[in-house]
Amino acid sequence: MRPLRLALAASELAPFAKTGGLADVLLGLGRWLGRPPTAADDGAAGPGHDVRLFVPFYRRIRDGGVAVEDHPTAGAIDVRFPNRTLRYSIKVGRLPASEVPVYFVDCPELYDRDGIYTDGGDEPLRFALLSRAVLETCQRLQWAPDVIHCNDWHTGLLPLYLRTLYAWDGLFRRTRTLLTIHNIGYQGSFATGVLESLGLGEQQAHLHPGDLQNGSFSFLKTGVLHADKLSTVSVTYADEIQTDTYGMGMQELLRDRRRDLVGIVNGVDYGEWDPASDPRIPHPYSADDLAGKAKMKAALLDRFALPHERRAPVFGVVSRLTSQKGFELFRDAMPVFLQREDMRLCVLGSGESEHEQYFQWLRDTWPDKVGLYRGFQEELAHWIEAGSDLFLMPSRFEPCGLNQMYSLRYGTPPIVRRTGGLADTVQPWDPDSRTGTGFLFDEFSSHALAGTIDWALRCWRDRRGWQRLVENGMSQDFSWQRQGPEYVKLYRSLAASPSA
Ligand code: ADP
Repeated sequence: MRPLRLALAASELAPFAKTGGLADVLLGLGRWLGRPPTAADDGAAGPGHDVRLFVPFYRRIRDGGVAVEDHPTAGAIDVRFPNRTLRYSIKVGRLPASEVPVYFVDCPELYDRDGIYTDGGDEPLRFALLSRAVLETCQRLQWAPDVIHCNDWHTGLLPLYLRTLYAWDGLFRRTRTLLTIHNIGYQGSFATGVLESLGLGEQQAHLHPGDLQNGSFSFLKTGVLHADKLSTVSVTYADEIQTDTYGMGMQELLRDRRRDLVGIVNGVDYGEWDPASDPRIPHPYSADDLAGKAKMKAALLDRFALPHERRAPVFGVVSRLTSQKGFELFRDAMPVFLQREDMRLCVLGSGESEHEQYFQWLRDTWPDKVGLYRGFQEELAHWIEAGSDLFLMPSRFEPCGLNQMYSLRYGTPPIVRRTGGLADTVQPWDPDSRTGTGFLFDEFSSHALAGTIDWALRCWRDRRGWQRLVENGMSQDFSWQRQGPEYVKLYRSLAASPSA
């Protein structure tokens, strides 16, 4: 079968611009898709597609010393919006350890800012441009993708632009669109007042009528209406978002399109996240020899200036601190354990001040047991995965979640709520059959979380059982080698399909 031409567009891409899992997924998927099929089947063979990633050239990328060069033909491209014309050019970089090209959309007017996301009035325009830049660049290069893979609300307008503003161009005759919902909690909703400035003033018939009546529209909903296919990042979440509990107002629309919606669990890029080869941790280890993990535990405790005690379990948290992540359940649960148990809690996170302050309070109240770093720190995330004994992820909802999969590979059994991708990737530990990889609870309550922590602590004291639990987790395989073919199947079904 011929290689596919694939354009992947997103607002985040590791290691260049990352706030969460979206960035990791784009890196891992992109790198795998473009990996050449090697002659020897050494397990590292890829499908060798012509994949190109599109992401804004944010200030942090420009200032970060990323190796880029001007694209020889995609320079000074003007994109006309009704009120203004934006000029951008393409800077080309590569995904690390690969030949896969990244097309950075360099439009200083919009992207030369401090943050990846802003609360500026031109936020919709920033991401409308990203969608249009994908299409304009394809035109300039006369490169016709089989599939344009859009990700989250930031690229939600692309399928509509393709069907309207760019419908005249035969180049895109066979191009199909896929929209992946990585998190339905972020929809890119704006007042209808901005439609005109995005070039959608005449396109209201293509927008969601109910929203328009309420004076708003959303990028994500528009994408769900117009993408040829939809996916989300776990099988359970694909079902959940069609329900009133998890759909966040999109459930009806998603139920209408359920035949076009699939769930594909995210892959893990073990090139970045494997304790045997992780360059960010000083003591590598594997399931056969966990000596390095014990050293990482000591190193982590030193880093947080916490006292050592081999038998005291270390609980790890690495997270955006938002209500999605369920940390409000800690309020009634955690103090009891910190009071009663010889344990440690190492937290890395940033986000809503309410949660940051709560963790600060825990740290101030139990300074010998709790370590906290408020902020974003890639290296420390790897240290916590490696140096902890248990990983906490009590999410209210979790489209896929990567950290629980990382913690499995790092021999750090996760305690998770049975929702979304957490339900799909963690199996409950059963000491009798010695099967399972972690600890799960169902009800979103402190009581349920506390009961599960209690149970995990009892299991921790059974050292032989624990060893097996750790081994079970470390042998799980969520690599892109396994998950990626699901996307290829989807792309191929799209490439063969008539336009909707
Ligand atoms: P989400 O995408 O909802 O934030 P995921 O579990 O899918 O959750 O992915 C989170 C990713 O972001 C992981 O790679 C995790 O290590 C990283 N991460 C989250 N918060 C931080 C932080 N404060 N510092 C460093 N990395 C973080």
